[in-house]
Amino acid sequence: MVGFAGPALAQGRPARAAEIPAAYALIREADLKRDLYAMAGDAMRGREAGTPDELRASVWVAEQLRAIGVRPVGDDGSYFQWFTMVRTRVSSVSTSGTLAGQPLEVWKDFIPLGNAGADVTGAVVWVANSADTTIDVRGKVVATPLVAPNPASVRTTTNSPEVRYAQAAVTATQQRFARRGAAALLIVADNTADGAFDPLAILRARGTYDVDRAARRFANQPTRAELPVPARQAGTPAFLLRGVMAARLQQTPTTELHVRLERFETPSTNIVGLLRGTDPVLRNEYVLYSSHQDHDGVRYVIGGDSVWAGADDNGTGSVALLAAARAFAKQPGKRSVLFVYHGAEERGLLGSRWHAAHPVVPLAQIVAVLNGEMMGRNHPDSASLLGIQPPHRNSAELVAMALRANALTGKFVLDSLWDRPTHPEGWYFRSDHVPYARLNVPSVMYTTNLHDDYHTPRDKPERIDYPKLTRMTQWMYLTGWFVANAPKRPGIDPGFKLER
Ligand SMILES: [Zn+2]
Repeated sequence: MVGFAGPALAQGRPARAAEIPAAYALIREADLKRDLYAMAGDAMRGREAGTPDELRASVWVAEQLRAIGVRPVGDDGSYFQWFTMVRTRVSSVSTSGTLAGQPLEVWKDFIPLGNAGADVTGAVVWVANSADTTIDVRGKVVATPLVAPNPASVRTTTNSPEVRYAQAAVTATQQRFARRGAAALLIVADNTADGAFDPLAILRARGTYDVDRAARRFANQPTRAELPVPARQAGTPAFLLRGVMAARLQQTPTTELHVRLERFETPSTNIVGLLRGTDPVLRNEYVLYSSHQDHDGVRYVIGGDSVWAGADDNGTGSVALLAAARAFAKQPGKRSVLFVYHGAEERGLLGSRWHAAHPVVPLAQIVAVLNGEMMGRNHPDSASLLGIQPPHRNSAELVAMALRANALTGKFVLDSLWDRPTHPEGWYFRSDHVPYARLNVPSVMYTTNLHDDYHTPRDKPERIDYPKLTRMTQWMYLTGWFVANAPKRPGIDPGFKLER
């Protein structure tokens, strides 16, 4: 069944299964490659939500959809469905501190480790050995050296190795003082964390993002309520200090730290387009192809590069949707096809949480969500379909169509480990199908899983396996074709319930 390549189809050779439409030939490696170099090139500056860079990329996607002939179904006849992110961060202007009587500058000299307000004043107790639990720290401001983490607790993807070490070390140090009742914790960086101080400050200064009146990612997520203003930091307020502070602290052990928050609204957008189906009845049902156009923007330098370009994450899913759109524009199915690029996925699935709560077509008429997320890396023959097994599977009928499509296209060996509730990465809950699945829309995610370049500036177009991306796209496209033309829409598994 290999060799359903474009040219053979274009010349009308008979060697294709009846299940494969002629428009399958329009899923072309050359298009995917060209589009990915455009979307994940340095000029897009990493497409970070809440910046003009996400908006530039969104306009680029919309322009591609227009050229393909996809109809806009967003706000005011546009391709854009706007939503408002609520951003909460430590105020660089209103946060202040002193140590041993000398002024400190937030992010330069100290990093607040919680995204919450705090006031810390008074004498500091130096605890040289945090493992010594006989020292009574109740009600005291404690300063202590950073504790080296258990190597198994250090993440293996995302950021630089120094940043990953420092993050795990901060957690390990905080754990030493959990439930010991300290008033505040000043953690003094070691050499490695000192070297990662600026990147850590850049990451922490970003704060958090949320969206109000949206669907849920997790079962316990508040919804349709005012977002709570963060109270004082739950637990012990903690700070990371530069290593040079250790001597000063021991000579003159006093400090004063005042952390203030600021909260503001900032726009993001989904990009939504439609190709009408041919059946007068079934065209009122929709197959939803999903991706996210945002990534992590311009951050700190790793290996001489500061553009976190997000070629695999999620340039690959995004250009796959364009290829599928070309095929459906040429040869529509019975049902309609909806293309949704979700904004601000990297900020917590904000665009999909918004669209699932405010869909541009009735949610009950969305028959399946096919989410493409990171589809161009790792071994050429392996891939994952998330939502393939309980408790993540919500439609055995949709999974059966996806498996049939895989047998006719990519023929990937499917790794089921990444879809298990026991997998340490919790991969299933980290992309845009989740808010829809939770609302009982049959949903799956196509992915080639994590890799060493994930969420670093090394995730570039030149590292993508284009033949593999092409097969992944063919697989996604053909699944959607099956769903669009099935006499009966895929049903929801009885008793479906996500584990969190
Ligand atoms: Zn992603």
